[in-house]
Amino acid sequence: MPSKAPVSLVVGAGPAGILSAVYLARRGHEVHLFDRRPSPLVCDASDHRAFFVMLQPRGAAALEGAGFALRPDGGLQQVSAIAMTLGRRGPQAIPFKQPRLMGPRHAFVRQMVEQAEAMQLPNLHFHFETAFEAVDLAAQTATLRAGSTPCDSSSSGEEADGGSSISFSYDLLVAADGGWSRVRRAAEAQTSELQVTVEQVEGRYKVFRHLPASPAMPFTAAGGSSSNGSNGTDAGSKASKEGSSAAVQLQMLRPTGAGSSSGPAVMFLAPEAGSASGAVCGMLALTGEAAWEGLQTTEECQAFLARQFPSLPAEWLPEIASQLEAAPLAVAGMRVHASQLHGPSLVCIGDAAHGVTPRTGNGMNAALEDAVILDQLLEAAGEDLASVPAAFTAKRLPDARALLWLDGTAAERNGTSRWGRLHPLALGSGASMIYRSLLSKATGGWVRPHAQIAMNDLAMPYREVQAQVCRDNLLLGTLGLPAAAPIAVLAAVAAGADRLRC
Ligand SMILES: Cc1cc2nc3c(=O)[nH]c(=O)nc-3n(C[C@H](O)[C@H](O)[C@H](O)COP(=O)(O)OP(=O)(O)OC[C@H]3O[C@@H](n4cnc5c(N)ncnc54)[C@H](O)[C@@H]3O)c2cc1C
Repeated sequence: MPSKAPVSLVVGAGPAGILSAVYLARRGHEVHLFDRRPSPLVCDASDHRAFFVMLQPRGAAALEGAGFALRPDGGLQQVSAIAMTLGRRGPQAIPFKQPRLMGPRHAFVRQMVEQAEAMQLPNLHFHFETAFEAVDLAAQTATLRAGSTPCDSSSSGEEADGGSSISFSYDLLVAADGGWSRVRRAAEAQTSELQVTVEQVEGRYKVFRHLPASPAMPFTAAGGSSSNGSNGTDAGSKASKEGSSAAVQLQMLRPTGAGSSSGPAVMFLAPEAGSASGAVCGMLALTGEAAWEGLQTTEECQAFLARQFPSLPAEWLPEIASQLEAAPLAVAGMRVHASQLHGPSLVCIGDAAHGVTPRTGNGMNAALEDAVILDQLLEAAGEDLASVPAAFTAKRLPDARALLWLDGTAAERNGTSRWGRLHPLALGSGASMIYRSLLSKATGGWVRPHAQIAMNDLAMPYREVQAQVCRDNLLLGTLGLPAAAPIAVLAAVAAGADRLRC
């Protein structure tokens, strides 16, 4: 008997595409999922661009809702806290309520493909090495080309070689093919309401690996004390008590900011997942390429690293410098500003819809959340599939815009812009972190914690996060000096006691 199930084509087997394909298949659609690259199960993409991505509660909930249970394995590991070091000041641990999974994007994608295949959904069909080429939105027909693309090629999606061209008719087309989305660009040419601006950001990142374990840079907090005597141990011991002793602390090193002459940079360090010798890997994120450009030799790189990150173990400097010199700078993302997230029978999700830079650590998490929202709208629409794309824009665009705003102001709020901690947004953010933390504790959570915590720990909708940031800034700006004085005193006391956490 011929199936009357709606046919959905999902282009892009990244986090957004895989998850939405599974949700669609669970809802009874006949789903074809395409990716121009080979399957991550046969393709090792662990190259120098294998950056860290962290799964926040909103992303984890989205995955669980579709039956995924990702685990610390195959490149993913559990992180119990971020231990933040500012200049020479020892690490200040920000513990998570629950350990979070962290690892390279391809490790997430590999586990997702593995688990999606294990679900044995008969109506979910994977088509790797098959690139989207064109779409006729009016005829609801997409053209794809089978052909191999190297695992580690750039994400512009142009270069499948040879192979045969295949046409698919569809009821719903889901563009999940990343920031450069070819589907979205094809739709733009056919739908005047869909207008997209891709904002290139100046940020760059470099990944390095295989650093030998160093007692000066601990990642666990066994026994309740770390070798550098910092208080960055609570999270590790807490995690250990909770039975997640394998969880590690991600180290985040920040330069002193305003005083740094070479431009803003942040470094993340973590144990290399699965390394028996405790090797360490890391990622250097630069908000301005200029910071790196003048450096010609390994010695200059070393001097840059030592100046920016005085707490880095000295024995690591030559190795990090030579790896950074050898590998090219990678662009740390883009911002995709779309007038709407849909076209006729088309929905754009993930980076294809609202790509952001890594600054808020939410690109993948927002992409996963998109899949849940699409699923909820499908349920509400029943048989009326044609109404879903516009409903998706109505529901998701305000959050997408807020996320883009949060991304655009993240450097200022986090004190990693050229102004350092002296930027008004960074000062405001620091002040609201303190007063919200105090009020939240005092009122038993009635006053919401700082936007950063609410966004990640509580999965607060992005538009509410943005509204909170704006309200706090307005409040602090209006109260001005009378409020600044007690806040400064509180900040000094908190810093002195070294106790205040969010
Ligand atoms: C340095 C760095 C750090 C980051 N850290 C974080 C973090 O901590 N937390 C977080 O949430 N996010 C983070 N991100 C962002 C995150 O990686 C992305 O937001 C996420 O991968 C987006 O998922 P997606 O499925 O929308 O797109 P993608 O992951 O880009 O997947 C798109 C897929 O589409 C395929 N494709 C492209 N063109 C075609 C075509 N023509 N035909 C068929 N297939 C095609 C690609 O091969 C790819 O598999 C980081 C990003 C960077 C660069």
